[in-house]
Amino acid sequence: MSELKSYNVIVIGAGPAGYVAAIRCAQLGLTTACVDMWLDNGKPTLGGTCLNVGCIPSKALLESSEKYHEAQNALADFGVEVDNVSLNLKTMMDRKGTMVKQLTQGIQGLFKANGIEWLKGHGKLLANKQVEVIATDDSVTTYQAEHIILATGSSPVDIGIAKVNKDTIVDSSGALSFTEVPAKLGVIGAGVIGLELGSVWKRLGSEVVILEAQDEFLPMADTQVSREALKQYKAQGLNINLSTRVTKTEVADNQVTVHYQDKDGDQTLVVDKLIVAVGRTPNSNQLASRDTDLLLDEGNFVHVDEQCRTNIPSVYAIGDLVRGPMLAHKGSEEGIAVAETIANDYPSTCDLDLVPSVIYTLPEIAWVGTNEKELKAAGIEYNSGSFPFAAIGRAHAMNQTAGFVKILADKTTDRILGVHIIGPAASELITEAVVAMEFSASSEDLARTIHAHPTLSEAMHEAALSVDNRAIHKANRKKKKK
Ligand code: FAD
Ligand code: NAD
Repeated sequence: MSELKSYNVIVIGAGPAGYVAAIRCAQLGLTTACVDMWLDNGKPTLGGTCLNVGCIPSKALLESSEKYHEAQNALADFGVEVDNVSLNLKTMMDRKGTMVKQLTQGIQGLFKANGIEWLKGHGKLLANKQVEVIATDDSVTTYQAEHIILATGSSPVDIGIAKVNKDTIVDSSGALSFTEVPAKLGVIGAGVIGLELGSVWKRLGSEVVILEAQDEFLPMADTQVSREALKQYKAQGLNINLSTRVTKTEVADNQVTVHYQDKDGDQTLVVDKLIVAVGRTPNSNQLASRDTDLLLDEGNFVHVDEQCRTNIPSVYAIGDLVRGPMLAHKGSEEGIAVAETIANDYPSTCDLDLVPSVIYTLPEIAWVGTNEKELKAAGIEYNSGSFPFAAIGRAHAMNQTAGFVKILADKTTDRILGVHIIGPAASELITEAVVAMEFSASSEDLARTIHAHPTLSEAMHEAALSVDNRAIHKANRKKKKK
């Protein structure tokens, strides 16, 4: 038998976890190949879910729909009058497609520049650190590696009662490509995708009804933030129904009838399109041959330790395929840490406690660290300081005064434990909190940091001052004289 082609590292999966891992491996001088099977209109492409049908296209449509909504409803308040605002959905979709193409081709360029070999096809982990690649023409090639990184990502959860038919019932990918604005849109799941894509189509003109199984809205966010968010979304016309149980769906005459139960009993909802957004599941099926004995956790996540090592020596797993939040930046950081662990033979980790979460609705929501519910449950004593955007000059200039920043700090040490934001540019503001927490900052550190005026970041500054009850632009609780 001829010798197998071999690499220092083979990465399976070229999403934000895998392609970043491959680039970092190559930067560190390791010979690297990356296997991916994604096809866009029959053509192999890089970037995975994030670039092709996730973060990037969804943000393109969020931006477009915000501009449309602004032109229709908000610009007049700024003294800018625009007549006859109309929607060109095809242009919106074409813009999204062009962006995706530019960015995925950018990764191809980076692979080339870093000398990474792109193996196009379905990869499978075999025993003895071998990887089998089945190309689209069904040819099979086996490669050898010293180290293997599994980064095959995740796929939308399918529920039997609302089977995706890619026409009237769609998953998030389908919901990014409607060719017309559905007059009536149903969404199952009030999670991140349901809220972001529900907001897009609401702003473009759909009547949107969201059905959520849980009793609590956005339970992963700080309770005060989720309460404010629900109020804002409802005011925007998103019809969010909690504590619902979808029991059946029927498709007829290009419409979907959704049968569900709520506290008032059996209900039906008829919609033109139904988005199923009930979570994602790791792509661990068919990933490894049986004789590898690759260990999976509950939920079919590949089992890993803190350094993303699987139970097989020299085989790592990262991104949506493993425990932790299913977020692009979390996967990328794990990819970098694993590459550095391999190259330096020294364990490097990604701190899962400091992964920021963002929901790109209007207003945006962002947080990092623990929330009040978690601190109370853990019995940790804390001080809290919050500050409303309604008292921030820049937010007034932008006409976006809803929301607040809340900072939670340890009662004894003042170390920042969590930061929770709902409001304009929360996705950008949260980085200040992540940096502060990365350096174990106290709320006093932020309070003593000069923030430019007039900026939205002044809300961070004032919230930090507020932890010690000394915010300048709001009335504080009366301090007792010592
Ligand atoms: P993926 O991006 O899923 O990539 C996995 C890759 O592996 C794919 O290219 C796939 O083709 C390949 N693959 C799978 N199996 C094999 C195999 N056997 N052989 C070869 N290749 C294989 N996250 C954020 O952080 N911010 C956002 O704003 C955001 N928005 C989102 C919006 C939507 C609509 C969706 C669906 C997701 C969004 N996410 C967002 C989540 C984000 O997309 C994922 O967390 C991220 O893509 C995970 O990266 P990954 O590399 O682990 O997996
Ligand atoms: P999610 O976990 O955020 O939300 C799913 C929602 O569906 C939950 O609220 C759940 O209670 C509900 N649900 C589950 N089964 C249901 C049922 N049968 N009937 C009614 N409701 C039901 O998942 P998602 O919105 O599908 O997003 C998937 C992943 O993608 C998330 O983990 C998220 O991290 C990631 N994502 C991130 C971003 C971002 O960072 N801005 C954007 C989109 C997606």
